[in-house]
Amino acid sequence: MTECFYERGLMMSSSTIGIFGGGQLGRMLALAARVMGYRSVSLDPGEDCPGSQVTDVHVVAAYDDLGAAEELAERSDFVTYEFENVDAAAIERIAELKPVFPSPSVLRVCQDREIEKTLMREMGIGVPEFRVVRSVEEAKSAVEAIGVPVVMKTTRWGYDGKGQSVVRDAGDAGLAFEGLGGSDDAPVIVEGFVDFAMEVSVVCARDMAGEMRTFPVSENVHVGGILDTSIVPARCSDEVKAEAERVAMRIAEGLDVRGLIAVEMFVTREGEVLVNELAPRPHNSGHYTIEGCVTSQFEQLARIMVGMPMGDVSLRSPTVMVNLLGDVWEAADGSPDWGAVLGMAGAHLHLYGKSGWRVGRKMGHITVCGETVEEALRVARAAREAAMGR
Ligand code: AMP
Repeated sequence: MTECFYERGLMMSSSTIGIFGGGQLGRMLALAARVMGYRSVSLDPGEDCPGSQVTDVHVVAAYDDLGAAEELAERSDFVTYEFENVDAAAIERIAELKPVFPSPSVLRVCQDREIEKTLMREMGIGVPEFRVVRSVEEAKSAVEAIGVPVVMKTTRWGYDGKGQSVVRDAGDAGLAFEGLGGSDDAPVIVEGFVDFAMEVSVVCARDMAGEMRTFPVSENVHVGGILDTSIVPARCSDEVKAEAERVAMRIAEGLDVRGLIAVEMFVTREGEVLVNELAPRPHNSGHYTIEGCVTSQFEQLARIMVGMPMGDVSLRSPTVMVNLLGDVWEAADGSPDWGAVLGMAGAHLHLYGKSGWRVGRKMGHITVCGETVEEALRVARAAREAAMGR
């Protein structure tokens, strides 16, 4: 049941975009849609979540509340979802009522690492060596066959490095499997550890006619499994960039994506591109597009949803984004110095309006556009340090 319902006095007669989820991705999508005059509706259990602060209407309900999902559909012309760890039944119900971008079939693939990786392999797309295991015995023999180190991951409900464990000693395979809650019903994927030269991602936009545009390749640095920094242009060869874009487009086409798909990849030391993970939505590594590109990933999704032409995805200038996790608040005793950030030329501050900080929680980001990628990187890092009072 819907617990409560807010409506704001915004009277605009145009399409309404429905957003399942009320986090920062929904918030930035709603902001981009509003610039173009579209309305938005969000659904999230949090009353004062980041999305609810900017959408026209916010439905407060659990993600598995089918009645509330129907309400979201009824209030919207088109619907999208801002995270993939969501009850597929709710999205499927919405898709019976309104067009959903991307379709529930894409969501089903991206929700499950077993389906995702198996499909990539069937499509002839490079992925790290992997096996899916359902018992301690299977885990042990998979680790034996692949060879340590391996990364073991739950096939469902993982994000930002959660539900993962690196196994360096084959004798730990059983413990790791059990630690991840592995069982016959909860399979675990055992992946070869990739000694990558770099991690990159590509956000690919595909419209109703099947036309595709890929945003510039982002070089990503993760810390503790969470994205820390995105650097654009990525500091790899043009061949690697072209291959990463080609892989993203093949996936977008193969899955018949209408909307956005973000493809995270490893670049091996030999220059091979291996797919790590897919996300059928705007992506943290695409936040740089807000200031860095002519059209942002959020505006592009809104354009596709309402049936408008896609925008130019060209990079305006070298751009770096650094995430602001709750760790920044901790370092600054709860009150980061935003004045110091905003006092730095070229630094754009994004705060998501989350009420409580916690170490590891994504609270905001800083984007810096520069003359060179090195300059943008230096300023972005300095800006985050300044926020921490360093
Ligand atoms: P994921 O949740 O699968 O995106 O993993 C989070 C991060 O963990 C990745 O961005 C990598 O930095 C690291 N990681 C995941 N899988 C592997 C792997 N097979 N080899 C090396 N590093 C990995």
